[in-house]
Amino acid sequence: MARHRNVRGYNYDEDFEDDDLYGQSVEDDYCISPSTAAQFIYSRRDKTPSGVEPVDEEYDTEDPKESTNRQLSGLDQARLYSCLDHMREVLGEAIPEQMMIDAVLRSNFDVEKALEVVLEQDRKLDLKNKSKEKVASGEMTKDSQVSRSESEIGPKVARMTISGKKQTMGFEVPGVTAEENGHSFHTPQKGPSSEDVPVAGSSVLEAEPNITPASVKKPGKSKPQIDVKAELEKRQGGKQLLNLVVIGHVDAGKSTLMGHLLYLLGNVNKRTMHKYEEESKKAGKASFAYAWVLDETGEERERGVTMDVGMTKFETKTKVITLMDAPGHKDFIPNMITGAAQADVAVLVVDASTGEFEAGFETGGQTREHGLLVRSLGVTQLVVAVNKMDQVNWQEERFQEIIGKLGQFLKQAGFKESDVAYIPTSGLSGENLITKSQSSELTKWYQGLCLLEQIDSFKSPQRATEKPFRLCVSDVFKDQGSGFCVTGKIEAGFVQTGDRLLVMPPNETCTTKGITLHDEPIDWAAAGDHVSLTLTGMDIIKVNVGCVFCDPREPIKACTRFKARILIFNIEIPITKGFPVLFHYQTVSEPATIRRLISILHKSTGEVTKKKPKLLTKGQNALVEVETQRPVALELYKDFKELGRFMLRYSGSTIAAGVVTEIKG
Ligand code: GDP
Repeated sequence: MARHRNVRGYNYDEDFEDDDLYGQSVEDDYCISPSTAAQFIYSRRDKTPSGVEPVDEEYDTEDPKESTNRQLSGLDQARLYSCLDHMREVLGEAIPEQMMIDAVLRSNFDVEKALEVVLEQDRKLDLKNKSKEKVASGEMTKDSQVSRSESEIGPKVARMTISGKKQTMGFEVPGVTAEENGHSFHTPQKGPSSEDVPVAGSSVLEAEPNITPASVKKPGKSKPQIDVKAELEKRQGGKQLLNLVVIGHVDAGKSTLMGHLLYLLGNVNKRTMHKYEEESKKAGKASFAYAWVLDETGEERERGVTMDVGMTKFETKTKVITLMDAPGHKDFIPNMITGAAQADVAVLVVDASTGEFEAGFETGGQTREHGLLVRSLGVTQLVVAVNKMDQVNWQEERFQEIIGKLGQFLKQAGFKESDVAYIPTSGLSGENLITKSQSSELTKWYQGLCLLEQIDSFKSPQRATEKPFRLCVSDVFKDQGSGFCVTGKIEAGFVQTGDRLLVMPPNETCTTKGITLHDEPIDWAAAGDHVSLTLTGMDIIKVNVGCVFCDPREPIKACTRFKARILIFNIEIPITKGFPVLFHYQTVSEPATIRRLISILHKSTGEVTKKKPKLLTKGQNALVEVETQRPVALELYKDFKELGRFMLRYSGSTIAAGVVTEIKG
């Protein structure tokens, strides 16, 4: 099971060591002045690198595969990536990848030496080309070129570094040979179906005196033309993807229900289950054994509550389900929002035991709040598991009573009756989970679908594969190699290994080194997939949960002020100008303020009924301006539904749901 990783205990000092060394000096180098850069280059070149082989006069445009495919061990590959990252920070993107790879290998992974090699090589190449030009124009003899001063050469790197030219990037990912697969090492061409741009191979070198990496790399092919829709259908054996979140009051039995379901589906082997049973018995919590399948962390086990949003995968007849087990405890609602924001459909678990359903349903219980939250976050289909039915002897009356109370509320919350199903279950005994119950107590009054069948019958939503790439980060952690990983759901578009991505905020780019879906490495992933991306070329410290990774050619906007239409929930304190709130959006949770109350709107027609109101009260629909403390990446609701809606919370409860209507800056 791929659960979000906990990075709280991660030691960032290790990262800082590298960055201090390189990040600092590099910034000084290329941001200040050419003379500083010249000094830097000069000092590096001045030292004759020991043990460095003399380099070829001209950079050879051999097939990049040849060198990178050398049998590198995993460790060496990691060292190579690390060196390349550092070199890219110093050199920018103006040096061909292959040239850097060769230099690293020749210098035996010594990044300093590799830099010297590359700079020396590049200098020679530049000199040679310049001389060719000048010889051709009769300006200079071959000899005079050699006496060119260092100062003339120095600023060149500064120029290259800040040129920021878009060109081929990335290198072979273990297990994925970009060029072998027909991928380019990223091309900045527009659109997912960009065609190859056939550029003459090595002749480009001769033809273009000022060599840019693009001119060397372009002979490679651009991204393969992926018919994402068709490929998605082929993948998963034609099964559709569905992201499902499990919600409900604490102790309703969410983890037990889904843990048992996974066990019955064979997703947890008998040995592991036995281990959980033994461990839970020892801990004096035998009834929690199934819940432990999902509640993986020690802290959760100790407290017996789910805190993080766990994720795992299972299959039904026609679908591949990514399951998110959201925490039910009040303190963990923000985590639950993260799960719900990424879900297409939900299972709401309610405890049928006497008094327990009522406790979860009344004000302060999570049943109502979760129901409202998921609906506001875009979930339209819901299955209610009326759980712990064993506790009430499978009484039909109790089941109907709960349906009556809940049904009315869910209708008010905006669920269509036809999109809500109710199933009597017992997570503990496993009744009605993956097969219809055979128990006569139940069959005498219930002949409907079991939980698995109901999940299978959900309609899969359309995937926005044609829109520009968007992924909202739900977790960030360090990987074993040189880069770092982020996880999240792809909201739109698709991504391939080697792709350059823009991160908003902080408005920086990085390169996709690897993609994993359900713990398996893949070459591409598309809207709807919950993936982990391995990235390089950027400092992990700048990436936070809530950042949006997007296509640099069609970036998402980051802002602190925006206008929104909000629907106010059942609040006790009216909302006034300057009201402090917590802004929950996708995986973002950010302090914010209601800056302006623009107007009150008619609930159904949307017409302005009052301009500049002094306050907003429960049930009202209003246009407001919100200001967040730090920038957040947003879309207009009309352009990107998923990235244009949010929730506002105040003092532990959700006070409003909203959609973004204008981004102000
Ligand atoms: P969660 O907080 O919603 O994830 O609830 P858990 O799955 O941790 O379950 C809370 C408690 O209810 C545990 O002691 C479970 O053993 C118990 N429980 C869960 N499902 C059932 C059920 O169907 N029947 C009975 N009798 N107990 C259950």
